[in-house]
Amino acid sequence: MNAEILAVGSELLTASRIDTNSLWLTDQLNAIGVEVTAKSIVGDDRPRLTAMLLQSLERAEIVLITGGLGPTEDDVTRDAVAVAAGKPLVFQQDLCDEIAAFFTRLGRTMTGNNRRQAHLIEGFDSLPNPRGTARGLLGEINGRFVALLPGPPHELKPMFVNHCLPRLKDKFPPQHIAVVHFRVAGLGESALDALIAPVYSTYSNPVTTILAAPGDVQIFLRALCATEAGARELADDLGAKITEILGDRIYSRNGSDLATATGALLRSRKETISVAESCTGGLVGQKLTAAAGSSDYFAGGFLTYSDAMKADLLGVPATVLQAHSAVSEPSARAMAEGARKRTGSTWALSVTGYAGPDGGTQQDPVGTVYLGLAGPQDTEVKRIQVPGDRERVRELAATSAIDLLRRRIQ
Ligand code: ATP
Repeated sequence: MNAEILAVGSELLTASRIDTNSLWLTDQLNAIGVEVTAKSIVGDDRPRLTAMLLQSLERAEIVLITGGLGPTEDDVTRDAVAVAAGKPLVFQQDLCDEIAAFFTRLGRTMTGNNRRQAHLIEGFDSLPNPRGTARGLLGEINGRFVALLPGPPHELKPMFVNHCLPRLKDKFPPQHIAVVHFRVAGLGESALDALIAPVYSTYSNPVTTILAAPGDVQIFLRALCATEAGARELADDLGAKITEILGDRIYSRNGSDLATATGALLRSRKETISVAESCTGGLVGQKLTAAAGSSDYFAGGFLTYSDAMKADLLGVPATVLQAHSAVSEPSARAMAEGARKRTGSTWALSVTGYAGPDGGTQQDPVGTVYLGLAGPQDTEVKRIQVPGDRERVRELAATSAIDLLRRRIQ
């Protein structure tokens, strides 16, 4: 079952007004298992709206139109839909009296143009609007469900919930939705897609959506079924196949971010973490402390940018810094071990690298980052090469460091 939404209003085509109604309506429709397959914004132009509505009616079983139901000449929705339906507008005296009474309650007199709002499309039902004068309209065109709803959100929302939604549910019994939400670290969007597309593309239900940000890719599997158990089974079946492929690259199954998921692991193990950061300038600490309750596992950190601070605060030997430089495997190792020793934490992460745009060496160009993880048994150092600008290098270095710990303790 699919729907299209048409938001009417020339002001919505300017930068000063955003179409929020269609976002809210999309949520409402998704909640009863209706997928919104397209939405459009159209100015106050009757022929254009009629043309767009006719196109939507060819593609969608449900078309919701918001706005343009007011009393003025540029409120064109009623007329445009009547033309698309091939039905006349019919004047309703009782509606006109109701609008007049609305104005009387406000201590005002109804103007002539409000009579426009007392016209209904033949064969359509009118939907009450206790908060305004624009009635909604609901009917069918070529067997498609069509609703006309007012533009102001405080009028649209109660009208939709109280009068439109029950009719929609009657005509289209709600489908149950089950969602599996994975978050994945250590793989770019295209690499991830290359791995899992051969599996998910063979399913039309669940529908798979992939959302990517640097260092973090989210996968949503959304299944629809007449029963709740059926929807869950469909989503879990594909979820299991994707888990088989991605293994421990999946760090979260409940939507929580990498630092929160890693923090939860530390908390359950009753372990602590400290950080020794150079090129990330505190980003790792910031991420690890963003979650409420992080004092359960975050011991503290060292922001050591200069060689002198690395030596003074972390005890990185001057010989190591001189022989290998601060951006090197031995320095990252000594930084992590120094932080662990000085804080007494179970684990310590270190980050040292060239964020650019200047710096780097032939052997370790800009984008090279060494990540250290010191733990109760040993110290591990990983060298990564991050493409992109300074901000991206720092962001990916920070998430990669946290992921190094997460994989170790998962
Ligand atoms: P009324 O006659 O009650 O004003 P209407 O259906 O004629 O209703 P419009 O004139 O189209 O509504 O819009 C009135 C106001 O409602 C707009 O100025 C805007 O503030 C808000 N609005 C309209 N459409 C949207 C939308 N899609 N998203 C958010 N706000 C909207």
